[in-house]
Parts: sequence; C-alpha cells; structure tokens
Amino acid sequence: MRASKLFFRTFKEAPAEADIISHQLLERGGYIRRLGRGIYSYTPLMVRVFKKILEIVREELDRAGAQEISLPFLHPAHFWKESGRWDDFISEKLLYTVEDREGHAYCLAPTHEEVVVSLVTNWATSYKQFPFNLYQIGNKFRDEIRPRFGLMRGKEFLMKDGYSFSRNPEEMDQQYAIMSEAYSAIFRRLGLDFVIVEAHGGKIGKGKSEEFQVVADVGEDAVMVCGEYAANVEATKSVPPSYPFEKALKSKERVATPGTTTIEELAAFLKVEGALILKTLVYKLIYADREEYVAVGIRGDRQINELKVGEKFGAVETVLATEDEVKRLTGASFGFVGPLDSKLRFYADHSAELMTNFVCAHNEDDVHFIHVNWDQDLPKPEFDDFLLAEEGDRCPHIPGGTYHVQRGIEVGHIFNIGTKYTEKLGAEYQDENGKMQPIWMGTYGIGIGRTAAACIEQTHDEKGIIWPKAIAPFRIMITPATTKDPVLFEMAEKLYEVLSPFEPLFDDREERLGFKLKDSDLIGIPFKLIVGKSFTNEGKVEIESRQGEKHLISPDEIQIWANDHLNW
Ligand code: ATP
Ligand code: MG
Repeated sequence: MRASKLFFRTFKEAPAEADIISHQLLERGGYIRRLGRGIYSYTPLMVRVFKKILEIVREELDRAGAQEISLPFLHPAHFWKESGRWDDFISEKLLYTVEDREGHAYCLAPTHEEVVVSLVTNWATSYKQFPFNLYQIGNKFRDEIRPRFGLMRGKEFLMKDGYSFSRNPEEMDQQYAIMSEAYSAIFRRLGLDFVIVEAHGGKIGKGKSEEFQVVADVGEDAVMVCGEYAANVEATKSVPPSYPFEKALKSKERVATPGTTTIEELAAFLKVEGALILKTLVYKLIYADREEYVAVGIRGDRQINELKVGEKFGAVETVLATEDEVKRLTGASFGFVGPLDSKLRFYADHSAELMTNFVCAHNEDDVHFIHVNWDQDLPKPEFDDFLLAEEGDRCPHIPGGTYHVQRGIEVGHIFNIGTKYTEKLGAEYQDENGKMQPIWMGTYGIGIGRTAAACIEQTHDEKGIIWPKAIAPFRIMITPATTKDPVLFEMAEKLYEVLSPFEPLFDDREERLGFKLKDSDLIGIPFKLIVGKSFTNEGKVEIESRQGEKHLISPDEIQIWANDHLNW
C-alpha cells in the first residue's frame, strides 16, 4: 500500500473526551472517528487490524469445530418477549427499539440468544445432529448508560458471538471446555496477558460462566485473585478478616445519636469501630409484575454486593430504595433503619452472624441501640452471602489464601446457559428413544473492538501504539529519507516491490522524514526501513524495529531478512 493513496491521517492531539491511552492513540492514529456518543466509524487502518483479529478468531473457532453463520440485527420483538428478556432489557434501558410501518415492534440486537435459538428450532430435531456450535461476527447495539473509553464501551460495537447446542449437561460441559480452550488460544495469539475468572451471569442467566480478563489499570472490572483462582468481584465468595467480638453479652441500651446518618458519623459519635455496627440497607426488588422491598444487614465495615441480593430473591433488577420509600416503609430516615422492630423482611450477611454487643438502629430517627445481641434482643435472621469481596479477604477455594485485587478488561465471556432459552422458545430434539428433550445451550462472546483496545493498553509507549505483530495493520514501513532524491526514491520503490508479500506500507508522501517516522510509530508498524544516508555512503539501508533496535543491511539481503523477521 502506498501511503499517498491510503485514506488516513494522524493527529497531534487526542479529543478531550479520550481519557485512556488506547482511546487517545486510536484517535490520534486515525483508526477511528467519532460519529456520536459511543458510536465510531472505522478507517482502513482499523479495518485492517480487525480483519487480522478476526482471522485469528475464525481460525481458532473453526479448528474447534464451530461454524460461521450470520444472523439478522433487526429482531422482531416477539422472540424477546417469549424469552422474557424484552421487559428486562427495557427496564434496564439497554434496548434500542424501533417500529415498522405497520406498528410492529423490533429491537436492534444487543445479543443473539433468542434469534439463534429460532434458527435451530424445528431444524436440529434429531439427536444425530448434535452437538454443534455456531458463531457470527457482527455489530451489537446496547444503549449503555456510560459509553466511554472509545472502543471499550460503545453503544454500537463489533462482537464475535457464538452458541453451542448439546443434548445433555455432560455434552454441554464438553462444548464449554472446547470453547474455553479456543478462547485461550485466541488471546494467547494476540499476546494478551489475561486471566480466566469466575463470572456473574448478569442478565443472561445462571450457570457456569467465566470471563477472559486482560490485566490493565484502566480495566472497568475488579478481579479478585488468589493464587490459581480468580473471580470477578461481582461473583466472588469471600470471608472477611474476623473481628474480635466480645464473648460476654451485655444488655442493650438506647442512646440518642442525633444526625448520624452514615456509618462513619455514627462510629465517630459512639467512638466504636465500624465492625461493631450492624448496617442495614433497604433494597427495592423489581420483578416483571411487582415490586418488593427487603432490608439487608451487614457488618458495618463492609459493603453489600447488590447482585447477590438480586440473585437471592430472583429479582429482575435490584436498586437501593430512595429515602422517601424508606421513610414510608420504616418510618425512619436514612441511617436509622435497622432490624429492631422492623416492618420489613430482614436478612443479614454471614459477616453479621458472629457480631455481639453491636450497635443497630431501631427505625426511629436520631436513636440507636448499643450492646445488641442476636437471640437475646432480636431473633436471628436468615443469614446468607451478600458480601462485596475486598482485598485481604480469605478465599474459600484456596486453603489459607487471601485475595488481592487487580483491574481487568473483560474481552471475552463464556457461559453455560443450560436450557433456559431453548425451553422458553421451544427448541427440542428427539432422543434415541423417540422422546422429546430440551437442548442444552452455551453462549460465548468476544468484544473485537475492546480486544484491540486492550492490546493497546498492554503495549504502547510515548510514541504510540505497539501492536502485537500478528495484528499490526502493516508489517513494515518503507521510505526514502527524502522524496527529492530520485536514487533513494527508486531504491525504496524497488524494496517495496521485493517486500510486497510482507504487507509493506510505502510512505511515498512528500513529507519530512521525521514526520513519517513519527506516523509509523504512532500507528504501531513493527518495522521501519529507511533508504537514506547509509545507502548513499555505503549502499546499505537502515532498518529499525518499533522498539528501537537498528541495523544496516544491504538491499541484496532484504529478502532473507524479511523471511526471518517479517514472516508471521
Ligand atoms: P460489560 O460487563 O463490560 O458491560 P457484558 O458482560 O455486558 O460486558 P457480554 O454480554 O458478556 O458483555 O458481551 C460479550 C463481550 O462483548 C464482552 O466480553 C466484551 O468484550 C464485549 N462488550 C460488551 N459490551 C460492550 C460494549 N458496550 N462495547 C464494546 N464491547 C463490549
Ligand atoms: Mg460479560
């Protein structure tokens, strides 16, 4: 490719809203152009990188036995209503919905479980057809609340999504393991430093689920790591460091605690540690047909994991109740809601189980009780795991191990969703005995743009992007030191021809050499070849790697050099 013909340009500055390095470099390198919030056009450079990522993705998935398909992006609403997710996505405001001229409702695909099941229903009907695995590459549309970080979190973004179909749980597990291997192979080939972490299923459902998280400071996910084991904080089970609660039980006492609406204020006022306070939060559980409220208690120095609350009660959505709701339900303001004389259903995290002589509220403003004890002063509630894991918590999976926190970018997600969708949408097969059975389904996704951005987050320098070689848009940039010297230009042109099998970019633009070298480094081309002074003086051309190693070679040896260094 000749740079003079390539539709590209670079920029000195990144737009103000680009606050992470991958976003800045993609904008400065002219890879993407913003159309609207979370919506980007991709330039030829970006498309070249995507094609390379996708080639790796396709190779590994095809090797694993998956087959490529292509599904519509415009989905008639009824598929989503049958699965029950229409209302879920609408209530989360994630779904783009549209109507056709007759008033029929559609959505723009945020994901494709429903639609791929519709492809399979009444088509794969015999046990002999199983297992199989289908994947596609295409755009997804999600009205993300906080689109940001360029390609990391878009409202429209490119995804590889895949779905496996199996006859039973064992076969499903095999398909899952095959995909896990394929994903590992893909991310390894991309040179990414990743961990496989236990995940929370979120909107998709329950069942085994893992994320491929690229370790990076800008990652939006907190990953709890303990030796070989890692989990997304959303899904982490952990045990907090114990607190030395007193053994001798005291008698409960009422104390005035005016204006202490936070744990910190209350702890300071009573001169006690946060761990001695039983904190209570009220949640609104939203279901398709109703709303309920529940109070959840936890040791005061810890936080509640809202997802665990939602999961426990099977709610579509779980949100903290507003102060008005709390007042209406308990008679108390924020900070004074507690299990004593509560009108709400009360549950507590395991961390509260061992508490003795604790402080708690009584649903009366400006009052708390101290020296409260389970059984003695109030019945023990149902205890469950509502804990948000933190650095230093004990890991139940590794004897003696404690967690530390890393930031991660979720680039891939694999998921055993069982028969949830196939049963709702009526996808069955006939077994060996002629009996109809539900199909077991797995779902697997890779964010292609997010993966490219993660590569940049992992390897870049002050000059620009350092692509993993396998996905660089060009392998080598070739330029004469000046376009004004016909000898140098002709030599560069000749080398461009010799190197044509190795995806060269011939920078034939009439620009200063320094400008061209900067561009090449900014967009992340692994090698630069300069035909300049060394050629005039000693007949050698200069080659410099993106990392700065230089050497001189004679043009006659370029073919051998290329075979050794540009063959990937
Ligand atoms: P997140 O938790 O980051 O919102 P998700 O769990 O909702 O992502 P999945 O439904 O698991 O996403 O989608 C599969 C993959 O698609 C993700 O692992 C991620 O790489 C990518 N992805 C998801 N949402 C976006 C987005 N808004 N922009 C870019 N890539 C995305
Ligand atoms: Mg996910």
